[in-house]
Amino acid sequence: MNIIVCVKQVPNTTEIKINPTTGTLIRDGVASIMNPDDKGGLEEALKLKDRYNAHVTVITMGLPQAEDILREAFAMGADRAILITDRKLGGADTLATSNTLAAALRQLEFDLIITGRQAIDGDTAQVGPQIAEHLDLPQVTYLENLEYDGKKTFTIKKSMEDSYQILEVDAPCVVTVLASANKARYMSVRGIVEAYDKEIEIWGFERIGIDEEKVGLKGSPTKVHKAFTRGVKAAGEMFETDAEESVGIIMSKLKEKYII
Ligand SMILES: Cc1cc2nc3c(=O)[nH]c(=O)nc-3n(C[C@H](O)[C@H](O)[C@H](O)COP(=O)(O)OP(=O)(O)OC[C@H]3O[C@@H](n4cnc5c(N)ncnc54)[C@H](O)[C@@H]3O)c2cc1C
Repeated sequence: MNIIVCVKQVPNTTEIKINPTTGTLIRDGVASIMNPDDKGGLEEALKLKDRYNAHVTVITMGLPQAEDILREAFAMGADRAILITDRKLGGADTLATSNTLAAALRQLEFDLIITGRQAIDGDTAQVGPQIAEHLDLPQVTYLENLEYDGKKTFTIKKSMEDSYQILEVDAPCVVTVLASANKARYMSVRGIVEAYDKEIEIWGFERIGIDEEKVGLKGSPTKVHKAFTRGVKAAGEMFETDAEESVGIIMSKLKEKYII
């Protein structure tokens, strides 16, 4: 069984800072990590490797420093790592990102494509389902648990708002995983040492063979009009009252601000 896990390097903070001129994320000086949901996805893949001897490939589109998360994936147990990096891919929105990843995935063998449910910086949860659409594959999002029959069928526990579904889906398919689905294993010392001897394949724009109009800023229908970090608001007023009185206070405040 061949499994491919899409992993994204993200700033190790939710306190992201935006460059007011370019409207893009300030990444310099901000420590980066593997997106938490993606680590959950990698762990699901490695569990299938432990049980069914699956082959696990990790793939990322990013800046050259995204090599770090691929080395981490090697140290956790991944077999192959691909970094898609090229200036032409910069400034990509989710559609351009998923176009790029799908083009690369078309050149690989897979029974299961795993993405995280969501990245903690862009926060759109769009890339996984978009990849499934581009590759015309069935998809299950918000995966909390995965079972495999050892042949071709996955049984998936999908998290819903206040319930969950148990779904069966045949390979090949795409799943998006929640970090809460498992407790990701740590990198082993031996894994860390060996990770630095393993080769990371670097794929540029030419290698993925896709129309330049579909990637990077050119391929992004999302135009960032204005991006800014919201300033800290004033503390606000605290009232220690009972429920009834607080309703009156809230109503008068709303009227005061002409909200009602
Ligand atoms: C603050 C901020 C706001 C943004 N808002 C938007 C927006 O509204 N619309 C828009 O189109 N773009 C937006 N972007 C750009 C968007 O972040 C990028 O397009 C990004 O590459 C993919 O979107 P995402 O981060 O939301 O990922 P998500 O769709 O949340 O990611 C889901 C999963 O897809 C996989 N994945 C995502 N990106 C990569 C990658 N580069 N390499 C490998 N796997 C990946 C991971 O497994 C990830 O868990 C925003 C970026 C920032 C920083």
